Amino acid sequence: MTQEAKIRRLEGELLGKEREIGEWRRRWEEKNRELEGYNRELLALKDLYKERARELRAVMEKLEEVSITDDLTQIYNHRYLISRLHYEFERAKRYGSSISLMMLDIDHFKVYNDNNGHLAGDDALRKVAKLINGAIRETDIAGRYGGEEFAVILLHADMIQIAEVAERIRGTIEETPFPNEELQPIGKITVSIGGSCLSDGMMTIEDLIRSADEALYRAKRNGRNQIAIEGRVSERSTHLRI
Ligand code: GH3
Ligand code: MG
Ligand code: MG
Repeated sequence: MTQEAKIRRLEGELLGKEREIGEWRRRWEEKNRELEGYNRELLALKDLYKERARELRAVMEKLEEVSITDDLTQIYNHRYLISRLHYEFERAKRYGSSISLMMLDIDHFKVYNDNNGHLAGDDALRKVAKLINGAIRETDIAGRYGGEEFAVILLHADMIQIAEVAERIRGTIEETPFPNEELQPIGKITVSIGGSCLSDGMMTIEDLIRSADEALYRAKRNGRNQIAIEGRVSERSTHLRI
């Protein structure tokens, strides 16, 4: 083969390789565009995922809130009160700190319902819940125990402080006007309150609840619209029964 023919053949091969490279480049650019598209899609999916996770978190928080809130009064419900009481009771036992429980019951509430209807009764329950919540300290936990009964868990409070908080709640409710309350046997919407402090003999939260209940029934028996605290405490009010 002549030198010229060799050159022509090599030029031909070179042209073929250049075409091949051009073809590969075209395909590479096409794949690159495809990849960029996937990348954009992935980024959009990532944003969507973040948004959905945020929504899910918000729903879960709302669910958690609803599961511990009393529908009618919007304060803590029975479920939360009991689980918190368990937690605080164990803590108080372990660290030797104090914990107390207050049980509150609206006096002659059946009469209020009978005279004014259940919707007015519901309004009164909401109002009482608000008054209780407004009269306690930040560390105290108030909830609706059930029906027309409420409970307050008090942390780091001694007998005197329980009596003070209870008397403040009782006095506030007595002084607050309610529609048609003059028809009540006492002439007002009032509450009776029983309080009890954790003592050595108490092994479970049931012991504490039972003790606060006993105090409450004592306040009821003694004429209602008064507080009674289990244990010894100096008398501070005409509404206090020890
Ligand atoms: P006492 O002073 O002995 O506590 O008398 P009382 O009438 O409050 O007690 P009783 O247990 O006889 O009646 C409780 C009333 O509370 C009857 C019930 O209809 C009413 N009640 C309970 N839950 C609700 C509620 O969610 N809404 C309304 N409107 N009334 C309720
Ligand atoms: Mg009751
Ligand atoms: Mg009652």
